[in-house]
Amino acid sequence: MLILTHALTGAVIGQVVRHSALAFIFGWVMHFVMDMIPHGDSKDYAQYKKTGVIPKWQIYQMIFDNVIMFGLMIYLLIFNVESYWWPTFWGILGSILPDIIVAIHECRPSKITRPFHKLHFYFHDLIPDRWRDIRFRYAVIIQIVLIVIMLKFL
Ligand SMILES: [Zn+2]
Repeated sequence: MLILTHALTGAVIGQVVRHSALAFIFGWVMHFVMDMIPHGDSKDYAQYKKTGVIPKWQIYQMIFDNVIMFGLMIYLLIFNVESYWWPTFWGILGSILPDIIVAIHECRPSKITRPFHKLHFYFHDLIPDRWRDIRFRYAVIIQIVLIVIMLKFL
């Protein structure tokens, strides 16, 4: 799932929950709930695990996603969020941290991050492995709609 979708969900959670620790926990849990919804990347990930190669378009997509996410979150936190700043910040952090830990493990596998990495993909692949995944492009369109709705909320 796009990191931008996760981050915005965390921001919305912060604005709704209005409590830093709770926003972080809900953001963290929501990451797994959202990852369980098929979003078109389970086959690509399986392919990467098999070959160890990430296609170029996917690298560009990840860079684009991360740059937009960081830019937008910094913009929101500086110019947009007037109340409940800390809960919003912690909500965002809780929502993106699972994928940050996964990325760290992909770059530098270690005993400390391995159990978490496993757990993350247990939830991530739970439905696509047992049922089916949707097409990546449809998943992106759905997420863009969600992003626009969430931006209206913030
Ligand atoms: Zn994830």
